[in-house]
Amino acid sequence: MADNLSIPVHKPRLWMPERIIFTPAALEESWGQQILARVQALNLPVEELPRNRLTGLRGEDERDTYNIAKRTLAVVTAPPSSFKLSPIPPSADWQFHLAEGCPAHCQYCYLAGSLQGSPVIRVFANLPQILSNLAAYEHSGEATSFEVSCYTDPLGIEHLTDSLAECIRYFGTRQDGHLRWVSKFDAVDGLLDLPHNGHTRCRMSVNAAPVSGRFEGGTASVASRLQALRRLALPRSQGGGGYPVGLVIAPIMLMEDWDEHYGQLLDSISEVLDFDCDLTFELISHRFTPGSKEVLQNWYPQTKLDMDEAKRSIKRNKFGGTKYVYTSDTMKMLRRFFESEIARRFPQACVLYWT
Ligand code: SF4
Repeated sequence: MADNLSIPVHKPRLWMPERIIFTPAALEESWGQQILARVQALNLPVEELPRNRLTGLRGEDERDTYNIAKRTLAVVTAPPSSFKLSPIPPSADWQFHLAEGCPAHCQYCYLAGSLQGSPVIRVFANLPQILSNLAAYEHSGEATSFEVSCYTDPLGIEHLTDSLAECIRYFGTRQDGHLRWVSKFDAVDGLLDLPHNGHTRCRMSVNAAPVSGRFEGGTASVASRLQALRRLALPRSQGGGGYPVGLVIAPIMLMEDWDEHYGQLLDSISEVLDFDCDLTFELISHRFTPGSKEVLQNWYPQTKLDMDEAKRSIKRNKFGGTKYVYTSDTMKMLRRFFESEIARRFPQACVLYWT
């Protein structure tokens, strides 16, 4: 039985863009050429832009621009500003980016309001320079974590880029640097044999069935994500990747029978991870900003996502920004539930944070 579970027959969810555009600068990069060879081998249509600016991607309205963007992969070079890293508490010490934009269609998307302009998926051709810049940010003699999924789903575009694998190979050679990534996709075959040296934590973002079924268009199913996580976590001797792994439960939503639905999610996680592994949980409650609400309502005009300010508390950050979060009583109730239900099912796992 265990053997059947170890190697599930599985066809992963792969995004195939309808249009792939390269800037001239991206084609000058060896990593850009590597991406070009990959997408040509997949017979995907490739165009070279006359200049390094991305133009001609606007539709007739916001919704049309969104549709064009989500079918387009642009291969560009990351601007000089991206070589100055920012911290990303509580997830990691630093964030860096191998791409910006994501092919999925989550109606609560975290990128809404944080990335400017058209949500076209831009992947960076100067990845070797991006990686060699990271060493300066490692705290010598102390584990330093780098999050690579703040502005993209790195696994969702991996079959077109190999960029996540390159990051994993790089961190496998570091003394103090550790990589973290998270995804809602499931094509992990290419990651299982990489020399990660235990320096990459692979996480899957999961949610209760009513949230994933209603709001997470274009992603792999939660069951497939969990099978992918199982394969990443299984020891090499059993055909797995032997990675440290994690679950990001996000965004946690208060819905009818929420405790039953989230209890079922935790049950399915424990069924799939039925062996000893290095496991963490990150718990993120649903929140939105005035800016993200406006963008999301343009992208998903029919959405049933609850973004009623009247039912929320306001949280202000030090720069004057406003977030709408659940009220403190709701937060306490949700937090208590998750912490106790996780401790009961996964006594060895570590809950990294609740927010
Ligand atoms: S997977 Fe993440 S980045 Fe992609 S659409 Fe969904 S929420 Fe946005």
